[in-house]
Amino acid sequence: MPLLPPAAPRPRFAPLRVARVDPVAEHAVSIAFDVAAPEHAAYLDYAAGQYVTLDARIAGERVRQSYSLWTRPARAAAEGLIRIAVAEIAGGRMSPWLVSHVAVGDTLDVLPPRGEFTYAAQPGPARHAIVAGGSGITPVLAIAADILAADPGTHIDLVLANRTPATAVLRHEVAALADATHGRLRVTDVYSRVQVPGERFGRIDEPLLAERFPAPGDIAHWWLCGPEGLLTRTEAWLAGRGIPTERVHRERFTTTGPVDPAPAN
Ligand SMILES: Cc1cc2nc3c(=O)[nH]c(=O)nc-3n(C[C@H](O)[C@H](O)[C@H](O)COP(=O)(O)OP(=O)(O)OC[C@H]3O[C@@H](n4cnc5c(N)ncnc54)[C@H](O)[C@@H]3O)c2cc1C
Repeated sequence: MPLLPPAAPRPRFAPLRVARVDPVAEHAVSIAFDVAAPEHAAYLDYAAGQYVTLDARIAGERVRQSYSLWTRPARAAAEGLIRIAVAEIAGGRMSPWLVSHVAVGDTLDVLPPRGEFTYAAQPGPARHAIVAGGSGITPVLAIAADILAADPGTHIDLVLANRTPATAVLRHEVAALADATHGRLRVTDVYSRVQVPGERFGRIDEPLLAERFPAPGDIAHWWLCGPEGLLTRTEAWLAGRGIPTERVHRERFTTTGPVDPAPAN
């Protein structure tokens, strides 16, 4: 009888200690988990763009939600920390609790990173485009950092939608990456609720895409993450310009695949 190959070990939630909680916008925090111990090696074995799933009992209810990792894997390994950024959804079960109640020293049950929205380093100069909105900056910030580290001739155009500058999640980290990479990350901010001198007002729409990306066929890869309307409009615009779907990568925050691994205890 042929032998079956050994089954891959089932991913398991493990309790991770919260090492840092930092505000990253109005009603949004970055939470860093300590994964420096060797038994947490699986948490550092991730690709830029992947997410972790949290499992918590909140107000008597068991809740699971997913949050993307916003630092590139090399930084996480150097720090012994993985970092998520959570934007509060008013009335939500988990995000208000994470933003307002989780503190340094707490432990949360976390599933190791997974997800298909990933960047695999490719040497050689290339142009990439990122279209993101709100908390959708989280996975694409890790991807942007990895893309820019892969080759000094690589450039990224990021078009970033937020309601206001104050609610722009991780905007200071985006600015830090742009500064550190000497203009290879070009950012266009679009605000929908306030007019900011020198910045775009409104939504990311077809005229703005056409202006920012006059030759979309020259762009090697497109990375999209944000509200559903932004994604569908951008995908339709790219399809209308004949951009092959294998060059368009998107993450939707509204659906998670099946999450049924064993709890930590
Ligand atoms: C792969 C993946 C990665 C994600 N990464 C992040 C991340 O990095 N940062 C982050 O803040 N969130 C992220 N999310 C969203 C996150 O998992 C939760 O859905 C979000 O925090 C809301 O959870 P909640 O329990 O507070 O709300 P729920 O109790 O689940 O929902 C409350 C209400 O809010 C609506 N809602 C749920 N999510 C959103 C949303 N994103 N925008 C607007 N309305 C919403 C629901 O339809 C519902 O009506 C990600 C989701 C997925 C699937």
